[in-house]
Amino acid sequence: MSSIRILGVRVDDVTMPSTLAVIARMIREGGAHQIVTVNPEFIMRAEREPAFAAVLERADLAIPDGQGMLWAARLLGRPLQARVAGSDLVPLLAEQSAREGHRLFLLGAAQGVAEIAASCLEGRYPGVRIAGTHAGSPRVEDDAESRARIRDSQPDVLLVAYGAPAQDMWIARNQPHLQVPVAIGIGGSLDFIAGVQKRAPLWMREHGLEWLYRLIRQPWRWRRMAVLPVFAGRVLAVRLQGRKEKRCDG
Ligand code: UDP
Repeated sequence: MSSIRILGVRVDDVTMPSTLAVIARMIREGGAHQIVTVNPEFIMRAEREPAFAAVLERADLAIPDGQGMLWAARLLGRPLQARVAGSDLVPLLAEQSAREGHRLFLLGAAQGVAEIAASCLEGRYPGVRIAGTHAGSPRVEDDAESRARIRDSQPDVLLVAYGAPAQDMWIARNQPHLQVPVAIGIGGSLDFIAGVQKRAPLWMREHGLEWLYRLIRQPWRWRRMAVLPVFAGRVLAVRLQGRKEKRCDG
């Protein structure tokens, strides 16, 4: 599997089918694998928080989540094959679970949402194996209870919905104390599955406008999204610098 770096952060060049295959392999292998879903907000956050950057660097799989990643990769001359959004991955993992018997644990989201998401997945993918659900919280003082519940239900895949970086830091801190082969931070995916939040229509997703839809529905996001133009500017600057160097080399 090849990887590229965008503003210093590693991203693996995967597709949805190859991601599902890698996850199935990780489950077969056992051990503890962390998967991160990198988007431009992650990259800008990693710049400010070395601990988060270290977690992204150590991840066993870094999937390109968001159209911004594809845009940046293309501009930097190392195009990625596909966008692999966490919100698209979770339903497909449920489908794979129904087929292969993998057990999923849903951790996070507001009180009650993980339970609703679990029953929606059970309705949509008969045979899906939900090992357990728990809202918990990303606070360190709640780690012990969440860990105990996860240990009791012995999942193969732990999906953590606390938003970044909290979910990824939670996994890095707690996975060594769990026997879960795969853990993935999944942002707001449980809200979408449970119908608590609506996803952008397909045409908007296909045109890279999911961020705009989320901004209109949840205006409080503007503060988080304010980093997006900064990200774009930084990528453009790297590209211009690269061109200048090429000219000088030639
Ligand atoms: N969340 C949570 N506890 C917290 C903070 C967030 O359970 O202390 C959940 C929140 O309910 C939502 C998810 O974390 O389900 C984060 O979703 P968001 O849409 O912010 O993530 P994104 O998809 O943008 O990464």
